Amino acid sequence: MGYTGPLSDKDRIFTNVYGFQSPDLKAAQARGDWDNTKALMAVGQDAIIDAVKASGLRGRGGAGFPTGMKWSFMPKEPKPGKPNFLVINADESEPGSCKDREIIRHDPHKLIEGALIASFAMRARACYIYIRGEYIREAQALEKAIAEAYAAGLVGKNAAGSGYDFDIFCHRGAGAYICGEETAMLESLEGKMGRPRLKPPFPAGAGLYGCPTTVNNVESIAVVPTILRRGASWFAGFGREKNEGTKLFQISGHVNKPAVVEESMSISFRELIDRHCGGIRGGWDNLLAVIPGGSSVPLVPAAEIMDAPMDFDGLKAVGSGLGTAAVIVMDKSTDIVRAISRISYFYKHESCGQCTPCREGTGWMWRIMERLREGDGSPELIDKLYDVTKQVEGHTICALGDAAAWPIQGLIKHFRPEIERRMAERNGGAMLEAAE
Ligand code: NAD
Ligand code: SF4
Repeated sequence: MGYTGPLSDKDRIFTNVYGFQSPDLKAAQARGDWDNTKALMAVGQDAIIDAVKASGLRGRGGAGFPTGMKWSFMPKEPKPGKPNFLVINADESEPGSCKDREIIRHDPHKLIEGALIASFAMRARACYIYIRGEYIREAQALEKAIAEAYAAGLVGKNAAGSGYDFDIFCHRGAGAYICGEETAMLESLEGKMGRPRLKPPFPAGAGLYGCPTTVNNVESIAVVPTILRRGASWFAGFGREKNEGTKLFQISGHVNKPAVVEESMSISFRELIDRHCGGIRGGWDNLLAVIPGGSSVPLVPAAEIMDAPMDFDGLKAVGSGLGTAAVIVMDKSTDIVRAISRISYFYKHESCGQCTPCREGTGWMWRIMERLREGDGSPELIDKLYDVTKQVEGHTICALGDAAAWPIQGLIKHFRPEIERRMAERNGGAMLEAAE
């Protein structure tokens, strides 16, 4: 199967992503949510997991782990005193990412219905939605929608008439990026400081309160009811092998019309931008580089991204990644060294500090980036910086270390001449001053 073209309106899952209609239960039901959910569940827990596997759905939070496979790691018969849990990661904090916010504020019932079905399939006793602290209105919208679902008997005892007792809670974070890392999130839910745990064990083995837990992204869960209603093969019909489905892309930066839009996986970058964003500001010749998956993935220069399929494999092939599909577009007016330095500062600030390569390395990398931004130093400093990124990458407890290293590696790989040009300019200036 190959990419079959852009998405038409009839194939959109998130029909209220722009909030043109009410997010309330009645309006959600008119859009098809909660339509005979009991029948979707009646096929049985294993059949639901099999359908999610067959759909090809891969985690939409950045890592792309196959969702059905992750669900199948959960014990089918929870031990006494060790209930299964589902935790939904709504701590959307990756710079550039803003899709889960749109689902929560405009289509919250898709998420709650998905949470019920996913929890049922995984034999979970309850579901916690961990929402980032800054999403104040979104948390209010979610709490309202949860209350509506309880009042209508869709969640709670005998949820949706299915015979399954299910509770769902909204838990607000306190503004730390690291709490989006799944094990830091579990620590935070338990009332502790949000610091990542060593993996393994993965949460499916020992998660919340030491119990089997699955952590899934908001979008991964919110698409599940539609996949079951329309069929796994319908969802798998979009994109291409190992990159199936529809996806919310969040396009920001130097495009004419920034947008959050649901599209088919594997659409090319050029088509995505022309179709939904009115092209690049100043025309395609003005494109400098793109960060295609949120700040944790390396940038890709204009020439290499134009025809790249916007999916896991297509972006890996150009040395980057789909991540959260937060597409940050930079035109030729961008100070690319400054942009990456700013990202470095973000990771330095958000490092939890528990492992030395990250705690010390993120600060070190940022300080060198600031020198490069000013044209200070010699080409050896670039080599030194690259060496530091390699000392951080792969040597930390969680992925934040890699996320801090990769954007810098991308900059050096593609824009080393620009960094050297600044050095030459500054050194030339100094020499001129000395001569005067
Ligand atoms: P990961 O690859 O370590 O894990 C992905 C998921 O698969 C996890 O849930 C993990 O528990 C599970 N998993 C992996 N191997 C497993 C195994 N052998 N057995 C059982 N379960 C297994 O990635 P990660 O550290 O969870 O996430 C990193 C990603 O998060 C990055 O790609 C980044 O793009 C993304 N991210 C997203 C945001 C956001 O705002 N959405 C913020 C920061 C980072
Ligand atoms: Fe904390 Fe950084 Fe180590 Fe992650 S990599 S555990 S953020 S110090």
